[in-house]
Amino acid sequence: MNILYGPLYSRRLGISLGLDIIPYKTCSYNCIYCHEGETTFLTLDRKEFFPLENVLHQLSTLKGKRIVKGRPVDYITFAGSGEPTLDVNIGSYINYLKDNCPIPVAVITNSSLLWDEKVRQDIRGADLVVPSLDAVTEDSFQMINRPVPHLSLEKVLQGLVDFCEVFQGAVWLEILLCEGINDSFEDLERFAVLLKNLPVQKIQLNTVSRPPAESWVRPSSLQTLSQWKDLLGARVTVVEDAVNSTRKNMEEALRRKVAVLLQKRSYTLEEIQRELHKSGHEVIKVLARMEKEGLVERTLKNGKSVFYGNKGRIMGNGAPTKPSY
Ligand code: SF4
Repeated sequence: MNILYGPLYSRRLGISLGLDIIPYKTCSYNCIYCHEGETTFLTLDRKEFFPLENVLHQLSTLKGKRIVKGRPVDYITFAGSGEPTLDVNIGSYINYLKDNCPIPVAVITNSSLLWDEKVRQDIRGADLVVPSLDAVTEDSFQMINRPVPHLSLEKVLQGLVDFCEVFQGAVWLEILLCEGINDSFEDLERFAVLLKNLPVQKIQLNTVSRPPAESWVRPSSLQTLSQWKDLLGARVTVVEDAVNSTRKNMEEALRRKVAVLLQKRSYTLEEIQRELHKSGHEVIKVLARMEKEGLVERTLKNGKSVFYGNKGRIMGNGAPTKPSY
């Protein structure tokens, strides 16, 4: 059993050396967006998953180190394939690292156990805690996080507030938005009220950027992320991967729409813009790529470019034959 992985570049933490102290896939939630897949052991019971001595022995290899495998590490991070606060030994591991290693320690948690005074005590030695909170109503909490039975959002929220009030290190809250599930304007307003008095240094907005546990889960749009960022204020950053993934999804959606249009007849650029309610810049970018890939061809008519689909490559249902959209 090897609990160390990396160091890897983390979009949130820089160069991070991961500690995976929970066996796959043990968690108190079964989030619809989880890129680790379905939770196979849904539990809120804390226990020792790996022998303390064994884990401490592995941590001892980090003694005095700032650089691991040739890379200067920004954080040693408790994360991985489940909820790390389920491990009753997490406090011992954090304390060991703080006493023996100069690299700051971070804990990524889903917040589900912060109501437990012992858990708050266990992680108080960390330099940074990144708790997540994806819902501010019980319904959307149950829908998006699918927690262990009998765990209420009220209990989770109270734990988060209690923790933030006493923790001496930094707290960066993460909110992950899924289209149509927890990203409505009403959700935003509720989050704004809650976050107003929550003493966290940063709020990181994220969306689905890796294959989710449920295939029907969709990322929120860039427009939604920007709206949330604007309303929630200066502490908010949008995680870079979320932006890239959302852009990619938007472009894919536009390509699909262009394909559907052009398989019927030819259109000028202005006509495509009008039909799809998109700016010329967006449409030109997509048309140029499709042209390069042989999906779209163009001809000149009365001094204007006219675009039409390459019949052999754009299928009847609007999905191109190649490449995948
Ligand atoms: S809390 Fe994290 S590990 Fe657990 S199901 Fe949700 S995303 Fe996956």
